[in-house]
Amino acid sequence: MIGRRRFLGGLTAAALSPWVMAQSAPRLSLQGAAVQGFPLFVAVVGEPTLSDLRVDWEGKEYALSWVEPASAWRGVVPIGIDCPTRQKLCVKQAGQVLLERELTVKARDYGTQYLSINPATLASYDDPQNKADDQAILASMKRLDDRQHWQGNFQLPCDAPETTGFGQRRLYNGWKKGWHKGLDLGGWEGQAVMAPAAGKVIHQARGIVNGNTLALSHGLGVFSVYFHLNDYAVVKGDQVEAGQSIASVGGTGGFAPHLHWEMRAFGRPVHPKAFLQLPADWR
Ligand SMILES: [Zn+2]
Repeated sequence: MIGRRRFLGGLTAAALSPWVMAQSAPRLSLQGAAVQGFPLFVAVVGEPTLSDLRVDWEGKEYALSWVEPASAWRGVVPIGIDCPTRQKLCVKQAGQVLLERELTVKARDYGTQYLSINPATLASYDDPQNKADDQAILASMKRLDDRQHWQGNFQLPCDAPETTGFGQRRLYNGWKKGWHKGLDLGGWEGQAVMAPAAGKVIHQARGIVNGNTLALSHGLGVFSVYFHLNDYAVVKGDQVEAGQSIASVGGTGGFAPHLHWEMRAFGRPVHPKAFLQLPADWR
């Protein structure tokens, strides 16, 4: 022990410099649960001078943003509900691989729901207008919002019990496949819908199936979406605070009143509950 200390004490500044360089090399931090359908909290720590950092994951690229208080490049990357259980994550700078890690993704069985619904309602799912409604939501999420708006954990947007969980596979009328991209909260018509975290209203529309729709951007690829709203308390472009009333629960789109709440990472639905218990560094 003493001998080692004496050895280190004898090093010159020149001999130390490679050690200092190694310390400032960009470091990959992955937090959250590596589980199918969950968000992955990706950070590259310690290099503000880097630029154009992107995560290559499941064949798609996701931009990272420099977050000053965290001294890190950050982004929230979606793990698909069908993601392979071995998957490589690459961080690229201007197209060149900077960091990479092979991940084990835990499989998760979200269960299957067999639903019988009115054939006319089912047909409306395939209506070009419904597809256009969904595309418009996605289009609103294309622009990178590089500010982390939230502080602390997200909150439930409506004080009501969960009636349908996230991720259930669905088979409608015995043949049509789908899956539940959000979480349903059984609120009453007119009950307040609150922003689960600070953000900006980026989309407001009336969909033929989704009904009255709002989407918020919370930054770094994180978005929330609300369907079947009765009424709005905000308009597109508004900045909202955590807990602020943004709308009221309804049944627009032809449903019994409830709140369908989605959380998305770069447009892809992920488990909303993951945001209620964020990794410590991300609160
Ligand atoms: Zn739903």
